[in-house]
Amino acid sequence: MKNHSKSTLCVHEGQMADEYRGINTPIFASTSYGYLDTEDRLYPRYFNIPNQRVLIQKLAALEKAENGLIFSSGMAAVSTALLSLMSKGDHCIFQNGLYGGTLHFANEEFQRFGLEYTVLKNNNIQSFEAAMRTNTRVVFVESPSNPLLSIVDLEAVSKLCRQKNCVSVIDNTFASPVNQNPLEFGIDIVLHSATKYLGGHSDITAGAVLSNNQYIKRITQSALSFGGSLNALMCYLLERSIKTLTIRVEKQNQNAGMIADFLYERPEIDAVYYPGLKSHKGHEIAKRQMTGYGGMLSFELKNQDITAFQKRLQLIKPAMSLGGIESTICAPVTTSHRLVSKKEREEEGIKDNLLRLSVGIEDSIDLIRDIEQALHN
Ligand code: PLP
Repeated sequence: MKNHSKSTLCVHEGQMADEYRGINTPIFASTSYGYLDTEDRLYPRYFNIPNQRVLIQKLAALEKAENGLIFSSGMAAVSTALLSLMSKGDHCIFQNGLYGGTLHFANEEFQRFGLEYTVLKNNNIQSFEAAMRTNTRVVFVESPSNPLLSIVDLEAVSKLCRQKNCVSVIDNTFASPVNQNPLEFGIDIVLHSATKYLGGHSDITAGAVLSNNQYIKRITQSALSFGGSLNALMCYLLERSIKTLTIRVEKQNQNAGMIADFLYERPEIDAVYYPGLKSHKGHEIAKRQMTGYGGMLSFELKNQDITAFQKRLQLIKPAMSLGGIESTICAPVTTSHRLVSKKEREEEGIKDNLLRLSVGIEDSIDLIRDIEQALHN
């Protein structure tokens, strides 16, 4: 299906026929598979049962990757990838502004395993270059990032990594494969929390890693032991969800763009962070490497109690997580970044009055009206 567009790949790629001519991939619930007269050794934890393979084929096509692995959560994908690529004494560079869970993982676990890391203060390419050490093995970026939507120049980062002989890894969760394909810019490995846009209905926890065969082979060797694979039922649900990925994300792009424009003009708002806005620091780079700016945006509320504001919203739900069909809002300081120290949050520019909005597929006018009435306290 190489020449088909993403919407077609979402619906059809990888799908498996069944002997009764059902048009959906059947659920292969077995954990025990025959082994005589075959070299195949199928087992869910080996990442090789049919529902896992179908999903990998679909996601690999969407991310233009050779191969992949499906995990039981985004953090299983992040931690397994990093721990499989790094050995004692290796160094990792993290961009400024990352999902709090990834930063927490590095803060809590790296030292115990003898792994070194640097969190950048700034995401320009000179900062990446300056942080390079002789033992740097991995450069980890997240563009757009959670929660400030900061943008990293993927082509420049991948070029630097090639020069310095290290691996470039991106968490592409916020963009989704619909808006951005980092492998096309030379990035080596793409990760997703499939709990967000890929699942899209706030009812699946999963993760994915996509790359070339060589990296996937390396990560698989560790993943088999770490044991974070996804079960067949959840794979089936995720496959079904991805069938509507492009139409969901395109609507979310459109809605988020309209809400960002609305907020930008409002006197009650101190700042709006959305890569589609011309005023956004990373707008020009985002324009080059993204085909849509995504459904996530953040804003700082001026002189208002952020909890009271969220309670006044009638349609948009104050809730954790993101990427669902319903619009949700949260304060990173008490949700995604609550385990990150105040000092680190300040260094990242995450203020106490920051709200992160995950825009759903509702009517944009209804969403704007809801925000407008909540602003009138
Ligand atoms: N990456 C990003 C950008 C996220 O926002 C999240 C979760 O919020 C994760 C990774 C972790 O994913 P999960 O919660 O599925 O483990």
